[in-house]
Amino acid sequence: MTKGVLVCGERRCNWRGHESHLLSAVNPFEPTETLYACPECKAIDNYAGECEVQGCTSIASCGTPTKNMGYIRCCGKHFDEFGVMK
Ligand SMILES: [Zn+2]
Ligand SMILES: [Zn+2]
Repeated sequence: MTKGVLVCGERRCNWRGHESHLLSAVNPFEPTETLYACPECKAIDNYAGECEVQGCTSIASCGTPTKNMGYIRCCGKHFDEFGVMK
């Protein structure tokens, strides 16, 4: 289970880590907003959660309630496998 792990969306960047590791800065165009960026490649707002199924490193594209893991964020493959809402 890799709950809360984020992965960078840039193809050439292999960063994965926790939300608290992201760089953050005030959005210069919208001072009430905060921008978050990858600490490796500095890509802004280009990250996604990792599939929370044990051993899976795909990017989570959806989320679903499951029988024994509660609500998880997961990839399409595990959505089909574990989802209880079909
Ligand atoms: Zn990156
Ligand atoms: Zn998965």
